Order: sequence, then C-alpha cells, then structure tokens
Amino acid sequence: MELRGKHLIAGRTAAEASTTFQAAAAATGEALEPPYHEATPGEVDRALRAAESSFDALRGSPPEVRADLLDRIADQIVAQGDVLLERAHLETGLPLARLTAERGRAVNQVRLFAGLIREGSWVEARIDRGQPERQPLPKPDVRRMLIPLGPIVVFGASNFPLAIGVVGTDTVCALAAGCPVVVKGHPAHPGTSEMLGTAVHTALEATGLPLGSFSLLHGAGHDLGQALVRHPATRAVAFTGSLRGGRALYDAAAARPDPIPVYAEMGSTNPVFLLPGALEQRAEQIAEGYVGSVTLGAGQFCTNPGIVLGLEAPGLRRFLEAAGKLASATSPATMLHAGIHRTFETGLERVAETSGVRTIGRSAAGPPAGTCRAASAVFATDFQTIEAQPHLKEELFGPSSIIVQCRELSEMVRYAEALEGQLTASLHGTEEDLHTHERLVRVLERKVGRLVFNGFPTGIEVCAAMHHGGPYPATTDPHFTSIGTASIHRFVRPVCYQGFPDAAVPPELRNRNARHIWRLVDEQFTREDV
Ligand code: NAP
Repeated sequence: MELRGKHLIAGRTAAEASTTFQAAAAATGEALEPPYHEATPGEVDRALRAAESSFDALRGSPPEVRADLLDRIADQIVAQGDVLLERAHLETGLPLARLTAERGRAVNQVRLFAGLIREGSWVEARIDRGQPERQPLPKPDVRRMLIPLGPIVVFGASNFPLAIGVVGTDTVCALAAGCPVVVKGHPAHPGTSEMLGTAVHTALEATGLPLGSFSLLHGAGHDLGQALVRHPATRAVAFTGSLRGGRALYDAAAARPDPIPVYAEMGSTNPVFLLPGALEQRAEQIAEGYVGSVTLGAGQFCTNPGIVLGLEAPGLRRFLEAAGKLASATSPATMLHAGIHRTFETGLERVAETSGVRTIGRSAAGPPAGTCRAASAVFATDFQTIEAQPHLKEELFGPSSIIVQCRELSEMVRYAEALEGQLTASLHGTEEDLHTHERLVRVLERKVGRLVFNGFPTGIEVCAAMHHGGPYPATTDPHFTSIGTASIHRFVRPVCYQGFPDAAVPPELRNRNARHIWRLVDEQFTREDV
C-alpha cells in the first residue's frame, strides 16, 4: 500500500499545512518516507464537525451494523498482511514476532467488541415498573440504560502500535458504543497509523455508516493534541502515555468551559512483593519470571515490574544472585523512539549513581552508539535508601528494575502504605504466606487496579473481567479500565426515562425484550418480556 503522508478526514485525504515531519527508523535513526503533514486548526475543526454530524446516524444504527463494521475492520487489518507488520517494525523497532502476536491481540479484541454489542446486555437496561396504586404516593415507571457520549478523541500509544493505536481498544469500544472517533496518530509511527486508518475507512465505506465516524490526524507537537481536547465537539478523551502528557491533556479538558473526561493511562512501577515461603521454595524460578517480565518488549510496558521487595533471608539472596546473572545475560534491545531511549538512558545512569544502590546485573554488550538500543539492568538497594531517594520510586520506562531488601515485614507494609496509585501489584507466596501477610494484601487493594498472585503483571488478558486502571497517577480515573470489554463504560453515560410510553423508549427498554438481553426488571435479572 502506498503511504501518502496525509490526514484522513471523514473519508477524504487532507494536507493543508506545508510543515511536515518524518518518522525515524527506530533501529538506525534513518528518516522514513513519506513526510507527514502537520494538522492545521482548520483540519481539526473539520474532523470534529464531521464526527459531530455523524453521531446521530452512528448511534442510531442497529448494533448488528456496528458489529459488522468491527468485523470488517478486523478483516482489513488481517488483509494488510506482512506489509503492515514490516512498517510497524521499521518505525518502532519492535520485533516482527512480537508485532505478529500484537496484531492477533488487536484483531481478537475488535471481534470481542463485535460479540459484545451483538449480545447487547452491555447497555445495562434497568426497568422499575410503575405502581400507580402505591400508597402513600404512586411509584412512577422508571427505565434507564447506557447511551454513547459523542465524538471521542483518541491518542495512539507509542508502545502498542497495533493494539492500543489507531484501532486499539479506545477506538474500537468507542465505535462499538456508537461514538465517532478522531485519532491523533502517535508521531513515532505515522505510516503504521495511516495503514490502520485506511483499514477503518474501507470498513466504514462497506457498511454504509457515515464516513465522518472516523478521522485520523497527524502531528508532531503538543498543539494538535491540545486543540483536539479543547474543541467544543469533543465529548471525551482516551490517552496512553506519559504522566506529563496525560496530565497536560487532563488539565486542558478541565479548563474548558464545559469540562470533559480524560481517561489517561499513564503507567506505574507495579511493585512485586516476594513473601518468605515462596522465596524459600522457588527463588530461582521467580527470578527467571521476573527478569523475563522486566526485559519483555525492551521493558516498554506500563505494567513493567519496576520495584521488587523481599525480606532478608537466604531465599532473597538466592533470588538476587539468579536475577543478577539472568539480567547480565540479556542483550541490548531497540527502544521505540529516540525520546524514550534518551529518557531511559538518563534515568538509568541516575539510578546507577545513587549512593546505596548496587548494580547486580546489566546486559553485557554495551549498546552501539547512535541508535535506540538500550541495555537492561537490575539494581539492589535497601529500604532506607529507597525511602530517602524519592527518584528511585519513579517509573523508569524501559528494561530496568530495583530490588529492595527489607529487614522486616513492617518495611514492606510501610512501602505499600506510602505508594501512589498503581496499575498493578504482585505477590509471590504460598497460600499460608497470603494468610500471614493479609494486612499487606488489604493495603494493596486500596492502591492498585489489579492484584496478581504468583505471576507477573506484563501480558494483560483482554477479557470481560480485566481491570487495567488504578488510582492517580496510574490513571486519571480509577473507576475505568482501558483494556477488556468493560472499557466501553468510558464512552457512555446513563439516561433515565420516567413515565414514557412503551413505544417511545429505546428498544432495549421496551416491554417486549426483542433483543433478548439481560435486564434488571424490578430488581431481578431476567431475559423475559416485561
Ligand atoms: P507521550 O510523550 O506521553 O506522548 C503521547 C502522545 O501524547 C503523543 O501523541 C504526544 O504528542 C501527546 N502529548 C504529550 N504531551 C502532550 C501535551 N503536553 N499536550 C498535548 N499532547 C501531548 O508518550 P510517548 O511518546 O509514548 O513516550 C514518552 C513517555 O511516555 C515514556 O518515556 C513513558 O514514560 C511513557 N509511556 C507510558 C506508556 C503507558 O503505557 N502508560 C506507554 C508509552 C509511553 P507529541 O509527541 O506530538 O507532543
């Protein structure tokens, strides 16, 4: 497929601005063709006006038509074949095997949402029938369900070009709910974004849904993102990236005359707690899983286990020795873009030079100069040092992690109590350990979105029960997940109809349950007619 370096606005290409930017090959730094035009304020306005005027037709379309759209998007992604993977590999440096797996995840999640809206119960229909004869006051007939919010602005993430990018969960669940989408493609992989945007456009054309339901804009500066968030037609924003970026967009949304929600997923240090029983039984095995998780995808996961805490004992010493050896045996890996690489290298040196921190393992071969290749590193320190040096508790996005040797359990609990919001925390232990350290589990429940037992947090299952979120600063709203089918709740809101005639409410709330969905009728779940 020929890349054109243009925006896709409601089915048409656009390129008003003369200013352009180019992606760079992650592995070599070489500039990649074609140049991409920066979106202008006029193009932002056109994309969002088209989204706004498509909204009623999209939300009014039968769920079957939107499910068909999603299936066609999945088919289009698959049909792009190796060309899509090769461009993504060139732009991001992610290995082809990883990208192949990520495409599988992206396609499966599109189909998962198609299934969700075909089944239909996600609208959470609730019906409380009226009781005109009730004393002392009659009970009104009250019915409620979830409806879509309107145009959603999506910021594609740099680290998942296929599964959290132009057709990632954010775009897919917004379209599934009936919300038009305007995506700002990540500037580090505009070619991949253009290919995925074309897949959505082709699928939209085939279903006859309004083409304004989807636009893709390119830009390599903060102005575009700010303009998208401030535009009056935007109803919500989904973002995956840095705390600084997510917070800036959140503040911009809050400063609007009509503040709108920003669902920003900004990462965390994902602490891992090693309990004594587990260390005694399988220190080496845990070390293997840990180093694998730290270095997976060059550590560029928001779920990377950045901090590990264990109690001083022979088991912890075996763990340290094994983790150090394994980390030293890893090879340097290419990072996503020069900015991420620079931040990682600077942060890594700062940790390595901190007094009280020891490097226990680091990739043997030094990374060649002038590329985005980074060495992995595992450090060790003690509780007093990490308490005294707050920068050690910050996320360092990349293949590195710090092991904290605690003298007593109370130090682990104190660390947990002082934690900022996290996406995950993991515990390695026996069932008896869990019982003995129940206090730690109770503290962690208040701090994180997902607790993992005897596993590592990388590798997020895309399913109905998944919660990928957590208290600030992991995200800007702890109620919502950005992965799994529950993520659709970010782009909908409840509306309640009181006293309406049956024919005037949406089909999901009528007496006859034509779609055979699960509904809460007079406080009982049922699929029967009313
Ligand atoms: P980023 O710098 O947060 O950028 C993500 C997107 O947000 C880009 O499109 C960027 O546009 C835009 N943006 C950033 N700051 C903005 C602002 N103040 N106003 C408007 N738009 C803004 O993320 P990144 O490039 O992917 O990587 C940088 C860092 O983000 C990493 O080092 C890592 O710490 C973190 N990260 C976290 C995750 C995660 O899963 N939570 C994933 C990837 C990266 P422009 O570049 O055009 O400004």
